[in-house]
Amino acid sequence: MPLAMRVAEAIAEMRRLRRELAEPVGFVPTMGYLHDGHLSLVKRARAENASVVVSIFVNPTQFGPQEDYATYPRDTRRDLALLEKEDTDVVFIPSVDEMYPPRFNSWVEVGQVTERLEGACRPSHFRGVTTVVAKLFHIVQPTKAYFGQKDAQQAIVIRKMVAELNMNLEVVVCPTVREPDGLAMSSRNTYLNPEERRQAVVLYQALKLAQDLWAQGERNAARIRQEMTALIRKQPLAHIDYVSIADPETLEELDTIKPPALVSLAVKFGRARLIDNVVLE
Ligand code: AMP
Repeated sequence: MPLAMRVAEAIAEMRRLRRELAEPVGFVPTMGYLHDGHLSLVKRARAENASVVVSIFVNPTQFGPQEDYATYPRDTRRDLALLEKEDTDVVFIPSVDEMYPPRFNSWVEVGQVTERLEGACRPSHFRGVTTVVAKLFHIVQPTKAYFGQKDAQQAIVIRKMVAELNMNLEVVVCPTVREPDGLAMSSRNTYLNPEERRQAVVLYQALKLAQDLWAQGERNAARIRQEMTALIRKQPLAHIDYVSIADPETLEELDTIKPPALVSLAVKFGRARLIDNVVLE
């Protein structure tokens, strides 16, 4: 019989539980309000490790002042029930004060790749992400950490941080989990009203269109961006932040596509800002 799942709120308690865990330890950082996308990472961690740690922390430093930190969906009780079913060993749920005590002022910053795409629309977002993820890695000391391809730029930034700062763990990136109609699962999908939800499938349709054009031999990135943009604009509630076809290492926009290329987009529907991507191989 596996031990019951344990919950740590204090960093000291998390560290104490960590010392008792069997190696290797898989770690899944989340902001909670869990869906099947998150749970796919937990399952993968469970399959590849003797122990599994999941964190739930809505990280204030990765939200801009006009963003949805205050209204971000939260349901810890439901999350804990889901994690228990996945045989999670430890759930780390720190408070904001525990992670950011008064006068906190140390930051982890990755340059260049954080300035494009999400970074261009959300200044200081990635500084918040890399700082909290570095802190979580120091506290949990995982063997492997699991991230979703859904947040492609985040995965690229974290891999770079881990490599360049010599963090002693392996980063595993897992495929995007989608709703039956293709919409990528996201905690923010709960913001969509029924009409917005119907129209939001256009993100996936635009990515499919890019894949189709690529498969038919189109190599001109501007033409593919144009066709994707035109398709999205047919949905009256869609407001495009960006449509990008970029080098997956530097995130520089491509003129002529040579694989692999990252096709990514950010589109707002009402107060939901949705992102998605595919890689052209
Ligand atoms: P979040 O709670 O949004 O910070 O996400 C926590 C982790 O789950 C991140 O590594 C995300 O990339 C990943 N994730 C979120 N949505 C999905 C999805 N639909 N498929 C796969 N992974 C996901």
